Amino acid sequence: MQSLTIERQKIEAGAEFSDAHCHLNLFDDPAETVENARKRGVGTIISAGGSAKDNFENASLAEKLGIFAVVGIGPDFSAKDSASVLEIDGLIKSSRHIVGIGEIGLDAKVADSNRMDVQRDVFGRQLQAARDLDMPVVIHCRGMLDDTLRMLSEAQIRRAIFHFFEGDENQAIDVAKKGYLISVPPAITGKRKRIINAVDLSSIVVETDSPVVGKTPADVIGVCEIVARLKGVPLDEVAAKTTENIRRLFYI
Ligand SMILES: [Zn+2]
Repeated sequence: MQSLTIERQKIEAGAEFSDAHCHLNLFDDPAETVENARKRGVGTIISAGGSAKDNFENASLAEKLGIFAVVGIGPDFSAKDSASVLEIDGLIKSSRHIVGIGEIGLDAKVADSNRMDVQRDVFGRQLQAARDLDMPVVIHCRGMLDDTLRMLSEAQIRRAIFHFFEGDENQAIDVAKKGYLISVPPAITGKRKRIINAVDLSSIVVETDSPVVGKTPADVIGVCEIVARLKGVPLDEVAAKTTENIRRLFYI
């Protein structure tokens, strides 16, 4: 288990932040990105795959940089990379740094190029794999929340993060009741503020989705500051709690 403790030991003092979702393989210099984030107190980083290419790149970065990765075929690649679902099992078994399956899910906005029946098939097969391997899943869901929740429950998935959760506060309460985590991105809208207010801190994690949305994993600190302000709790507590939530979900 030694390799898995590396990234925590690097945090010397103060609050430890966690980025629940970024794409390290999309940075020009992933090693420098991780080093800078650690200097600012971001101790746990989950880098997400989503295509066959992203999965292999993140798997090797996770080993090399001592961070964690999830691998999976997301809705955007469900048509092109559907055969690569078969690679997931081998990738997961190849490294203890690969801690989940993701990002996977259903996306109504890409249904033109990725027919919904294909998306459902690819998502469903990966939920099955998650159940067989006892792995958590990182969900990408746009406009398909009811269907996604139904498929999660049919596959008896108990550990899931809703990355970049885009539902409203009632849907967030519903997701939290099922024991799933809601991930808050650095795009704070009125709706997200209501979600932060409505949902207990034990169901919230924070992410940057960098470099796509946030600039670096360290942008997670700004998200924690907003959560702290809205909930009226110290920043340290938000950092500690969101980190604890991630570790509990991924068994890390
Ligand atoms: Zn993402």
